[in-house]
Amino acid sequence: MAGKVSFPGPKTSEVFVLDGSDSHSPNFGSLVFIDRVILTPMPAPILPSRILPKITRLAAPHIPLAVYRRLLPRNPIGFFYHAVSDTPLPHIKHLYPIKSAAEFEQDILYLKQHYTLIGYPELCSLAESLTRRIADSPSIPSNAAFLSFDDGFVECTTVVRPLLLKHNIPCLFFLATDWMDNQAMYYRGKMSLAIEALAKLDPEQQNATLSRITPTARCTHRHNLQLSNLATFKSWLLSHQQADEPLIDRVCDLLEVDIPGFLRTRQPFLTRAQIQEMQAEGFVFGAHTRRHPKLSTISQGEQAAEIVESCQFVCEMTGQDQVPFAFPFSGSGVDRDFLARLRTEHPHIGPLFDTQKLRRDRPFIFQRIWADQPVPGVLPERNLAHWLRDAYIREMNRSYS
Ligand SMILES: [Zn+2]
Repeated sequence: MAGKVSFPGPKTSEVFVLDGSDSHSPNFGSLVFIDRVILTPMPAPILPSRILPKITRLAAPHIPLAVYRRLLPRNPIGFFYHAVSDTPLPHIKHLYPIKSAAEFEQDILYLKQHYTLIGYPELCSLAESLTRRIADSPSIPSNAAFLSFDDGFVECTTVVRPLLLKHNIPCLFFLATDWMDNQAMYYRGKMSLAIEALAKLDPEQQNATLSRITPTARCTHRHNLQLSNLATFKSWLLSHQQADEPLIDRVCDLLEVDIPGFLRTRQPFLTRAQIQEMQAEGFVFGAHTRRHPKLSTISQGEQAAEIVESCQFVCEMTGQDQVPFAFPFSGSGVDRDFLARLRTEHPHIGPLFDTQKLRRDRPFIFQRIWADQPVPGVLPERNLAHWLRDAYIREMNRSYS
């Protein structure tokens, strides 16, 4: 390897080596990439710092997936979904698109072809050994991936579960414990139901209803607000946060959306009996807070309560000593040292799962790529490759920006 010239790779300290002599790495012309952790200070970049981001932005969309796997090695790679359904789900429909059962099965087939799917025991022991810096870390396959579902929608058992069993795929399911057994509907689900209620009215009824809602909407310091049609109503309603739930409830009342009735008759969330049945089949359940707040927007004391109490709830329900936890929305902005302390003080909190795609994190935090959405113009069998590429491109740009 004499004569090699290195410059810092992504901030995670991979090193790119300008040398063709390393037999363990693919040779891309004269540029060879090695995934190696360097703990000593990096030499200065050979390219001016303002040029590298520009080159990266131009090159990133054209790099093949196979090359990205070498450039930005991540193992395991995680994916997360919320629901899979062949029919529209009114409590999700206006929030984000989801895949049909056939489209989700194509994802499974893609993963089986390109990755080795691992389950919670492997993830748990990997996280613990890396966190405790145990020298002989358990090895996982070099191309490991894992699947997970957030929020605990009933389709996890009615649609997802049969496909996972058919293909013998392990999976983690994260529950917002306040919603379990259909005890509550979260504020974004209420928004979707309200939009759906307005969409079902004819234009004349929509106008009359919007006239009734507008005075309520203007109470929120937006005195000139004009809710003139379904699009403006949707945009206005979806701009609200969890703290605005009383306003969302008033809008639901004005639209005659019966939330308790919907929970009772439609039963959109998993029940305790369904969870225990899936657990007996080998699926693993974890916590996703009690009421699904964006943790970075609440105090550290409230963050601790949401994490500790929801994990405790799932431990007691499932009989597990320790359960995994997934951040609602994103764990961005949640202090990592605080999380490390919380896990030490509360050993029933297992590894944590975030949604920041391929970002490197503490050894006890696994990142995941959002995979719910079909992409217009992309074949279902290529959908997951599309989201993987999207994640690699973002990580490439982030690493060099
Ligand atoms: Zn969630």
